[in-house]
Amino acid sequence: MSWPPRGRNVRVFAGTVSTETNTFVPLPTRLEDFTVVRRAEYEATGFQEEPGLEEIRRLTLERGWEFVFGLQAFAQPSGVVTRAAYEGLRDELLERLREELPVDMVFLPLHGAMVAEGCDNCEVDLVTRVREVVGPAVPIGVSFDLHCHFSDAMLELADVLVAYKEYPHTDLAERGADLFRLISKAAAGEVTPTMALFDCRMIGIYPTTTQPMRAFVDAMTAAEARGEVLSLSLAHGFPWGDVPDMGCKMLAVTDGDMAAAERAAREWGLRFHALRREVTLDPLTLDAALDKALAAHQGPVVVADQADNPGGGAPGDSTYALAALLERGTTDAALGMIYDPEVVAQAGAAGVGARIRVRLGGKLGATSGPTLEVEAEVRNVNPDLVQNWPQEAGPLWVPCGAAAALRMGGVDVVVSDRRGQVFSPDVFTGMGIDVLAKRLIVVKSTQHFYGAFAPIASEIIYMGGPGAIAPRMTDIPLERADLHKYPWVEDPFA
Ligand SMILES: [Zn+2]
Repeated sequence: MSWPPRGRNVRVFAGTVSTETNTFVPLPTRLEDFTVVRRAEYEATGFQEEPGLEEIRRLTLERGWEFVFGLQAFAQPSGVVTRAAYEGLRDELLERLREELPVDMVFLPLHGAMVAEGCDNCEVDLVTRVREVVGPAVPIGVSFDLHCHFSDAMLELADVLVAYKEYPHTDLAERGADLFRLISKAAAGEVTPTMALFDCRMIGIYPTTTQPMRAFVDAMTAAEARGEVLSLSLAHGFPWGDVPDMGCKMLAVTDGDMAAAERAAREWGLRFHALRREVTLDPLTLDAALDKALAAHQGPVVVADQADNPGGGAPGDSTYALAALLERGTTDAALGMIYDPEVVAQAGAAGVGARIRVRLGGKLGATSGPTLEVEAEVRNVNPDLVQNWPQEAGPLWVPCGAAAALRMGGVDVVVSDRRGQVFSPDVFTGMGIDVLAKRLIVVKSTQHFYGAFAPIASEIIYMGGPGAIAPRMTDIPLERADLHKYPWVEDPFA
């Protein structure tokens, strides 16, 4: 293949079909659960959602090349994707690619933990088919959420893989830029990426905001800057996806030197493995978390209800934390967001100031706890609540649907009609709730809340209460994943 192509401009194709599948959630992810953006809509609206994809588009246009938008389909994390949904969207993306041939490079910003009926690793299946369409010479770059299932098979299919480094994921655009730089150099023959993967034999939840994770991520970035490797990615893995590829893995990309890639992946992987006890997040039980929060002298203390994080596939309508707050007679507290479209509609119909009896939450399964029958005052309604998820590259606005703020006892509760996790205090301030006046704020999120709440929180407490996402790894009823890893095995390399 000649570079640059003769007689035409460079054509850069990008598209995605992605979600994060929690195989323990009984609700299937159907076609109607995907937000699908097709080319006509993308071009008409300048649609912006996935900052990595947007960065690739920006850099393509900056070079004077042609950006070819394929398809963007994304579903909020939930249960296994139906075969019809996955195959339909996959085939639509492949058809778009065929229509647009010839292309000179392909970018696929995937999540990396999608499981469909009959397919344990959708990304491998998708990239296999993309490779068949474009042939061996066109570089394919794939970016992943760090909560992904990296596999050796993927290394054979793509030219460069890059995973987010930050948790909360604030570096979507930066990783898109890394991928663009490496793939465009590969297309021009300036580098020959060689990749190796090392299984760290561990799994856990590893926020990068505290030590020693922070230092580890900074060390990876410094090694890239020194030119020791082209790229390093630590895939934390997604423990609620019960598939054989599940696990924490280290990927190294070097320039035409497989031995160096293998060495770097192993060295960095073992270096991370050595930190396995220190980096493991150990959340408090529901009661211990609330005791600690309510003992604080200064607010607002932010408590993360990790077990009901819709961002990890949980229903988002669990009532355990709210019931505990009401039972304790807690005042000056706020909690969000409980997913309950019926209650949002009921509050909207009753209007601000009305007192209503609601049957709130606990409707989506046994892990959501009991439905609460409580009297509430409608404090506010908002037909279109949005929140800003802070990114290094700027704000990313996330729609939350229609919402109602209900006061129950001393607790202000934000209820929404769209399942989603809490990324920012906007969820409360957008409903007229003064977060700084609260002693306690409970958010349904595992870690993505951290960036926007840390500046206002007097303290942050990770809570592993009851719910769909058991936050302690050994409580997850894994059967198909290889459990020869920490924390099941104290020293898996012994
Ligand atoms: Zn993630």
